[in-house]
Amino acid sequence: MYKDLENKVVVITGAATGLGKAMAERFGREKAKVVVNYHSDRNEVDELIQSIKTAGGDAAAIKGDVTNEDDVKKMISFAVETFGSLNIMVNNAGIENEVPTERLSLDDWNKVIDVNLTGVFLGSREAIAYMLEHDIKGSIINMSSVHDRIPWPHFAHYAASKGGVKMLTETLALEYAPKRIRVNNISPGAIDTPINAEKFADPQGKKEVEALIPMGYIGKPEEIAACAAWLASDESSYVTGLTLYADGGMTKYPGFQAGRG
Ligand code: NAD
Repeated sequence: MYKDLENKVVVITGAATGLGKAMAERFGREKAKVVVNYHSDRNEVDELIQSIKTAGGDAAAIKGDVTNEDDVKKMISFAVETFGSLNIMVNNAGIENEVPTERLSLDDWNKVIDVNLTGVFLGSREAIAYMLEHDIKGSIINMSSVHDRIPWPHFAHYAASKGGVKMLTETLALEYAPKRIRVNNISPGAIDTPINAEKFADPQGKKEVEALIPMGYIGKPEEIAACAAWLASDESSYVTGLTLYADGGMTKYPGFQAGRG
């Protein structure tokens, strides 16, 4: 646990499910004040808000689309009106869909780039603008993927969006380091969340993914939330522009394991 996270105000996009939800729960246990952004169904977040409060934190929910500039501005002003400030911005919302590239429509391409990359840009820009204006030495955490470096056929739009997130993060880290606003990236491997539900429901599909992970198991959302808590806390005070691969070794060439190659 990180004592300095107590009472810090954190906004998490796409926090109704999966990694966003796990991070919201973790920040709740850190006794932070959590703004839970959700995209569609309010029912999904009521229980989450309650569990954060029970854990000793505080929480409030706001509906919004990360691709909509006004919605993103409202997320930040909602955090400030509700909890008085903004210290940590987690740009987590993301989508993916499988399409061989020769059939990838411009519409599908744009949707994924809009949510995964433009959404991170808007969230980062608005959070940084607020932090600069109020002289807050905040922390921005972006959710990328191992596919910011591992090519992924049939997911060209997704891989392109995550490669963009990595470079956006590094650029912002450099740009705002003098203001002590830290900008870091988490790149998860395969984690057990709704985005992978279909794939992991098929035992063969799950086995194939596990074979790509040197540590041999699919990650838990809590293991990503732990990275976010560290990157938000003062324990990582000298860390900016990092891409933290939380992937059980997936980016370390698993084909070469056990002396092969
Ligand atoms: P998820 O599908 O449970 O979460 C994605 C969330 O984003 C959902 O709650 C969804 O409602 C929200 N969302 C989608 N479009 C939105 C929009 N326009 N505005 C606001 N919210 C929107 O899946 P997840 O695994 O928790 O994914 C979270 C992030 O982690 C994504 O960026 C994903 O690419 C990334 N990621 C996940 C994995 C994994 O294995 N689970 C691996 C690498 C990266």
